[in-house]
Parts: sequence; C-alpha cells; structure tokens
Amino acid sequence: MIRLESFVRGRWVAGAAAGRPFCDPTTGEVLGHVDSTGVDCAEALRHAREAGGPALAALTFEARGALLGRIADVLAAERDRWFDIARRNSGNTPRDAAIDVDGAIGTLRYYARLAKTLGPGRSIVEPGTDRLAKGDTFEARHVWTTRPGAAVLINAFNFPAWGLWEKAAVALLAGAPIVAKPASGTAWLAEAMVRAVDAAAILPEGALSLVCGAAEGLLDAVGPFDAVAFTGSAATGRMIRAHEGVLAAAPRLGIEADSVNVALLAASAGPGSDAFERLLEQATAAVSVKAGQLCTNIRRILVPRPLREAFVEALAARIDGLKIGDPGLDGIDVGPLVDEKQLRAAFAGLAVLARETRVVRGGGIPAHVVGADPGKGAFLAPTLLVAADGRDLEAVHDVEVFGPVVTVLGYDDTPEAARLAARGEGSLAASVYADDPSEAAALVAALAPLHGRVLAVDGVVGRGHTGHAIVMPMCVHGGPGRAGGGEELGGLRGLRFHMQRTAVQGSPAMLAALTAEAATATL
Ligand code: NAP
Repeated sequence: MIRLESFVRGRWVAGAAAGRPFCDPTTGEVLGHVDSTGVDCAEALRHAREAGGPALAALTFEARGALLGRIADVLAAERDRWFDIARRNSGNTPRDAAIDVDGAIGTLRYYARLAKTLGPGRSIVEPGTDRLAKGDTFEARHVWTTRPGAAVLINAFNFPAWGLWEKAAVALLAGAPIVAKPASGTAWLAEAMVRAVDAAAILPEGALSLVCGAAEGLLDAVGPFDAVAFTGSAATGRMIRAHEGVLAAAPRLGIEADSVNVALLAASAGPGSDAFERLLEQATAAVSVKAGQLCTNIRRILVPRPLREAFVEALAARIDGLKIGDPGLDGIDVGPLVDEKQLRAAFAGLAVLARETRVVRGGGIPAHVVGADPGKGAFLAPTLLVAADGRDLEAVHDVEVFGPVVTVLGYDDTPEAARLAARGEGSLAASVYADDPSEAAALVAALAPLHGRVLAVDGVVGRGHTGHAIVMPMCVHGGPGRAGGGEELGGLRGLRFHMQRTAVQGSPAMLAALTAEAATATL
C-alpha cells in the first residue's frame, strides 16, 4: 500500500495519522493513503522564503530558465511511469494522460525558452520613460522585481501534473520559491514527480516544497509577500478568499475556479458546413476526453433554434460510437471519473439539470463498460442533455457537472446568445464556430468581456486549432466572475503574479544605473 509523503525543509516526511485513502477509479481498489498531520506548513513557508527565495533571486532569468529545462528533461525521461500512475490513480486513457503529463512538460519547456528572451537580468523594466519635471532631471520608469515571499500553489484533482508544473514554471522563472499542495485524491503523481526532480538535485534548497494531504495551517501561515494560486471549485475558492489568515495577511490571491463554459454555433452554419462539423468534434471531445473533467470543458452548447434538432441528432450518433471502459485497454475513448465521490457529485448535479432538460444520451452508469465492472468503477456514461423549450432556465447556466456532460440550448439571435452565455456569470473559455469571419467576429466581440479565452473556428482555421478545452502557455488562462477572476500563464504576463511593479522616480542617471542589467519587456 502506497503512503504518500510531504517534502518540507529538504526532507521527505510522513503524516502522523492514518490519512485519507486514494483509489483506482477503474476498479475501486484502494491504492494508498495520503496525510499531512504534523507536517509543519508554517515552517515549510518560512524555509521557502528564507532559503529558496534568496537562492532563486540570485539567479538570472536565463539560469532559472535552464532549471525549468532540466526539470522538463527529468520528467520527460520517465513519461511512461507518469502515464501509468495517471491511468491507475486518475483513470486516464493515454490521450487523457498526455494532456496532463505532456502538457506539464511542454509548459516547462515553453517557459525555459521564454527565459532566454529575458537574458541575464533579474528584474524587468517596462519600455518607455515618463518625464515628471520641466527639464530632463526627474523621470519615472516602471520596474518589476521579485517579491520576497513564497508561491503557495493549491491544485485541483484533475491535473496533478500540469496543474503543478504550469504554476511552478511561472513562479520559478519569476524567482518565487514554491510550497505546493496537490489535491489529495490524485497527489500520487505530483509526489512521484517531485521525488524525481528532488533526486536529480536540480533546484536550490527550499525552492520547491510539497505538502501531500489536507495541509492544515498552510493558509494561517501565509504572509503579505506570498502569492496564493488556487485552482478548484468555486465553493473552496470562496472559503479561501474568506479565510482569516488570507484576510489578515492580504497575500496576492489568484483563484481559478469552475465555470459553465459555452460553445456557440453561428446562425449560418448548417449541417455539413465546416463550422457544424468542427463543433461536433469539440462536443464529442467534451463528453470523452478526461471523462469531461477539465475546468475549461464545454458545458453548454448554444445552437440556432432551427439547427438544434439536427445538431442533437448528429452529436447523439457520435456519442453512440464512443467506447467506455478500462483506460488501460486499446481503443477506449472514455475512462472513469476520478473517484466514487466525484461520481456521486455528478449524479447530484445531473438530478438538478434533469429538472430543466431532456436526457438524449447517458445520464447514469453506462450499460456496457469494456474490461471493467460498472458497479465497482466510477463510470458515468457520456451524457447529452437538451434544454426544454419555453422555460426560464437557471440550473443549466449554474450547475457544473464535472464529468462527460453537455447541454444543448437553442437561441434566436446574437443578442440572445450573448445573454445566455452571460448567465454563466463569467467563464474560463468559450468557442465560436462560424464559416464567415465577420459573423464570427461579432460573436467573439459579444463573448470576450465574459471570458478569459475565446476560440473562433472558421474555414481557415479548420481542424488546425488547439481545441476548446486546451490551455496554451502563451495564452492567458483564467476567467472573470464565477471563474474566479484569476489569470495564469499568458507568456510573460504570468510573471506579474509573483513580481512587484514599482514606479521608480529619480534622475535619469539613477534610473539608468538601476535598469542597466534589467530585461526590457511589457508584462
Ligand atoms: P476542490 O475540492 O475545490 O479542491 C481544490 C484544492 O483545494 C484541493 O487541493 C483541496 O485539497 C484544496 N482545499 C480544499 N479545502 C482546503 C482548505 N481548507 N485549505 C487549503 N486547501 C484546501 O476542487 P477539486 O474537486 O479538486 O477540483 C475540481 C474543481 O476544480 C472543478 O470544479 C473544476 O472546474 C475546478 N478546476 C478549475 C480549474 C481552473 O483552472 N479554473 C482547473 C481545474 C479544475 P484536498 O484535495 O486535500 O481536499
């Protein structure tokens, strides 16, 4: 039986209590336990600030980037092992695991490359000088420097690899030491990866700590220069915002929460059109890839009312072709949810959606599961719901069923589509499918203020896009309102979260001396 440990003050330590079990969602078998009772989170934070922070701050951006590259190499060397853990503990098919594991490695490599563009500096100066006096004796420049705090990274269960390393890549490049807390249910992969990175002795002492378990006392110990980056449900996000330790210390706080993301088919995109086909592909991915457990996943599909039945029929046919089963077997499209608790939560959400929708496909435990017992594994059938006409709907815009579930809704015109999208109260990602660029642009303009990212697929983009749900490190990730209001990644933009922008006022000579070795960039 596996017993996960925490990595604090450069040592691996076990929790003092029996802890919480984590399982194989395909079989229900308990794989091990995770516990952080007795792990001193305050000490972990202090060590990060006092040992890891100065060690990282002494390195140039280029040198920090080299560390990221070496971490990526270490992780890439054991890719098969990570895929195996992802299959056993997260129920991932190889395609699902690739999104998490290769996504992590790719993001680290991207930031390693980006570091080279910053060169040998340790601070960043924004282009442009503001003159503050009549003559040229007194000016201002805006300078970004590393804050003397730690990055507290709290992650959701669905991306144990990418969730950790996408945040870590940005924090380390900014010079911030890390105390990471993976979600307990899937912490095994994060723990194994951090062990591999520790064994390779890449990072300076205190630059990376990991707390596996509930991390009692972590938020009580945050300080004013720390940066807390949380990913998870809106409910936990609310709790963290209101936490006394967070309120008292006022650290930087980034919340990446859930959202009820929309995909939108343009009025002119009938059956057989490119736009119609591309949306069908993405909707099929939404009810199969990672069993729908992506925060950016399509949840609502807005289709012009006259096209609704044709779209539902075509999507139902695609769903009928999906193979559900043991993610370790060849040709499986849909694995299980991550555990029994998530399955119960999905059923509870479906029961609420059922009041406003008609079930076209799925809605429960699948009748046929290849190579596994549906009574033991956490399998949920790919589910297609259609919203009933003539009802003032609430739940479809509000309830995120974290599984392979989409709801199709009809709309009459662009203003109505925008109004329906806005009912999600702010989302991570939207996608628009239109063959005409002007029509697409009008829809994108309506959706942009409500979303952190909008994907527009037209005839030119065709199949050559990255997908509705896939987060790219060069694009910002996060969304307004319910989605948490956070912003991660986005190339150099991500560094803002861990660095301080200061308006420095003084003589041109002083400013020149201060910024002589700084990288010039706009964050
Ligand atoms: P969750 O239950 O909110 O947990 C998220 C993280 O918060 C876990 O590490 C959890 O630890 C931790 N946590 C819970 N209570 C805490 C406390 N009192 N102090 C410190 N940490 C605490 O979410 P989840 O079930 O893991 O993930 C699913 C949700 O995440 C979905 O709603 C999904 O939409 C959202 N999500 C959002 C994004 C995004 O980028 N916006 C990405 C992925 C997922 P334990 O596991 O130990 O309880």
